[in-house]
Amino acid sequence: MIIILLGPPGAGKGTIANEISRRISIPVIATGNILRNAIDKNTDLGKIAKSFVVSGKLVPDEFVIRIVEDRITESDCEKGFIFDGFPRTTNQARELDMVFKRLDRNIDQVFYLDTSYETIISRLSARRVCTKCGAIYNLKYDPPEKDDLCTKCGGKLIQRADDQEDTIKKRLDVYNEETLPLVSYYEKKNILTKINADQGLENELKILWNRLIEIGVIQNNILW
Ligand code: AMP
Repeated sequence: MIIILLGPPGAGKGTIANEISRRISIPVIATGNILRNAIDKNTDLGKIAKSFVVSGKLVPDEFVIRIVEDRITESDCEKGFIFDGFPRTTNQARELDMVFKRLDRNIDQVFYLDTSYETIISRLSARRVCTKCGAIYNLKYDPPEKDDLCTKCGGKLIQRADDQEDTIKKRLDVYNEETLPLVSYYEKKNILTKINADQGLENELKILWNRLIEIGVIQNNILW
């Protein structure tokens, strides 16, 4: 099963992706996480990506497509995977179509998580991420048991550098200009489901899950 999660920063793509992955054991491919890891390890890719990521701009398509192509051909992706934060431009979506054609794979569904500006700002400014396992917390709505420590693994929690208010605004501008056109790109292909992402994780997961049952990629309610 191949799922794409589309939506602005702060819509909850990472949280939903981790939940689906946990429940049906397919990996999440989050290009933002791959790029941040490369930056932390100061690899060649990390050196190129750093200035783009820190300033909230998009890393050039050629690098991102290469990362994705390498990742999806790894053995754990055979059963399927969830894209979080990819594709992010029409060009990336077209390139992905070509890669999938070559690999004889198909996108089952694109879920567009639509949310308000107020929700985005309040979620991102209170977001904390575990440096060890990638778990995501919100200091207001889903706080860790101990300040600054991951409840799941004890790893250190940090605020992402690009979750500062000025960079959030830049990321939203980039999103509106570069990524939002993908909604109509996938609508035209008849594989887009829109979800109101202000209604809470469990409700959103239910809608998503029901849609997957409806299109026949999941047979029963194993999630509930
Ligand atoms: P995210 O964790 O998805 O919010 O991504 C964080 C940052 O990584 C973005 O602001 C971009 O700088 C970069 N990035 C992540 N995914 C992509 C992508 N598909 N294309 C280009 N840049 C990306």
